[in-house]
Amino acid sequence: MYGYNGRILRVNLSKQKIRVEEIGEEVYEKFLGGKGLGTLIIYREVPPGTKPLSPSNKIVFAAGGLSGLVPGARKVAVVSKSPETRLIHDSHAGDAFGPMLKRAGFDAIVVEGASKDPVYLWVHDGEAEIRGAEKIWGKRVSEATKTIVNETDPNASVAAIGPAGENLARIACIIFDYTRAAGRGGLGAVMGSKKLKAIAVVGKRNPPVLHPEKLEELFKKYYEEYATSPSTEGTRKYGTNDGLRISGSLGMSPSYNYNKPYIPEELASKLAGEEVLKRLIPGFKPPENVRSTPCPVKCSKYIRFKYKGREYTVKPEYENLAMLGAATGVFEFDAVAYYNYLVNEYGLDSIATGNTIAWLLELVEKRLVGLEELDGLEAKGFGDKEAVEKLIEMIAHKKGIGAILSEGVARASRILGRGEELAVHVKGLEAPAWDPRGRRTYALSYATADVGASHLRGWPHPHMPPNAGPAKELVPSLIESRDRDSVFDHLGVCKFIPYGLEDLSLLLNTVTGWNTTPESLREVSARTEALARIHGVLDWLTPPQDDTIPPKWWIPEPEGPAKGNKAFIDEQDFLEARRTYYELRGWHSEYGVPLPETLEKLGLEWAVEDAKRALLLVEKRLEHTL
Ligand code: SF4
Repeated sequence: MYGYNGRILRVNLSKQKIRVEEIGEEVYEKFLGGKGLGTLIIYREVPPGTKPLSPSNKIVFAAGGLSGLVPGARKVAVVSKSPETRLIHDSHAGDAFGPMLKRAGFDAIVVEGASKDPVYLWVHDGEAEIRGAEKIWGKRVSEATKTIVNETDPNASVAAIGPAGENLARIACIIFDYTRAAGRGGLGAVMGSKKLKAIAVVGKRNPPVLHPEKLEELFKKYYEEYATSPSTEGTRKYGTNDGLRISGSLGMSPSYNYNKPYIPEELASKLAGEEVLKRLIPGFKPPENVRSTPCPVKCSKYIRFKYKGREYTVKPEYENLAMLGAATGVFEFDAVAYYNYLVNEYGLDSIATGNTIAWLLELVEKRLVGLEELDGLEAKGFGDKEAVEKLIEMIAHKKGIGAILSEGVARASRILGRGEELAVHVKGLEAPAWDPRGRRTYALSYATADVGASHLRGWPHPHMPPNAGPAKELVPSLIESRDRDSVFDHLGVCKFIPYGLEDLSLLLNTVTGWNTTPESLREVSARTEALARIHGVLDWLTPPQDDTIPPKWWIPEPEGPAKGNKAFIDEQDFLEARRTYYELRGWHSEYGVPLPETLEKLGLEWAVEDAKRALLLVEKRLEHTL
């Protein structure tokens, strides 16, 4: 086998046992790695109904099929049952862990059970050990990471949780190498529930490649092309940090809890690219382990800034600036950069944290929440920068109202018993910083995405507003884009590298000797999506009720270029588009469950009985609702 190690690490924390399992090439051919391998393992080993924070849940760290082998293939997929949505969730992070894992001799780590005492896992050169983590339990991410690097290897890549994950905040994330986050789905809380503070990994040798010379040639070609191509120029200059100028001008920003998606240029610029460039650290070099897998685009912008008399370093991103800043109505750059620093240190999902705080501030403005419920926090509403700072602390430590907010916006609104119509999420996953009313049919991506409201599951095109034509027209393009994004997540390739599927297929064939085609890669994406959907339905998902969008996106945009635009023309338009999505996926056109013949076509005959049960379940649940 080429390009893979054919080995995964099994770590049982209840028994404190580690073993190595061999995986056959046919599994990789069908699932590629990353998202596919992780989803397959969770599907087979974590039965529907399992509580995400119980020892029976598992968490998989899976390198992609090309991780570490081609330019920009630096991602690792983290897959588990999400404490936020109770669906199989995959979240992806860079920049060194995936390649290091492969070099350490493993394609994935599967963590099961739960330890009694805090531990971390140290993986290196084909071996692994469980080590005590008492002295770093309770520590912020940077201190814990530094301690582990000192105890292990200066080149180790470390995935760690902060106090939020330890405290089982459902919006906790996992931070890799100080600044990169597997942000979504609350997977930091899954690590916390297993008392697993961190995983450190280092390795020196990539698995063998079938055609090394040809791969070297292709590596150079793609690297040079993407390092200079006009299509990557904006990302090379600003990273993602100029996003708010774009989303604000299109009427797609999350400003003021999605109440003002359009914001003027002067306001958006306060949290955008030029502010980041002013604070760049000259000559800053990311850690050696990150540099060991070259990226032609290099989007990371490390900045130094001062807040309340102290200096901090952080690597901002558009989603962080927009969700912690624009969504909460705070447009002061250094304050928002400090929130970014805080959520990294506590290990909180910046999108979910910003979204949930923004929701609370709207309740405050509308006087739907009393001061006594805020435990002494005198929040004034949008733009109250002190309140946002305190709320982040309270969420991480589950103090006062922070304990409710740490559950995420959907649960928080149910617990408080108000404001559900103001909560912006799909299936329990908070919406990110792209309001879909500014683009035709974008909302269908959120409604049908496997994990809930994610901005990384493909967009339809052409998508210029207004929503004058039927949304169903754009469904084929959504599927095409979704499959492309998903293939990147299977291969561990960063989505900012503008490979086409032909390029990825050529690279994968050069590495492995397989005969993949863009079409066969798309099929892998459909295969993984089908499994995730069946598992979700066998658990709780009732697609006709749950593949939907939040009430706010039915309100016409108040101003800007998308003024008057709703997420869809009307409900009928949405339902027809959704039905078209189901049909083109080979799913039941009303119930949204993969059909037996689709599973057979995808080589998933073994899942047919599950799909039949899932179909019956949906039928029954709908009967009860009627
Ligand atoms: S473009 Fe940015 S996120 Fe993507 S691999 Fe390069 S540095 Fe990492």
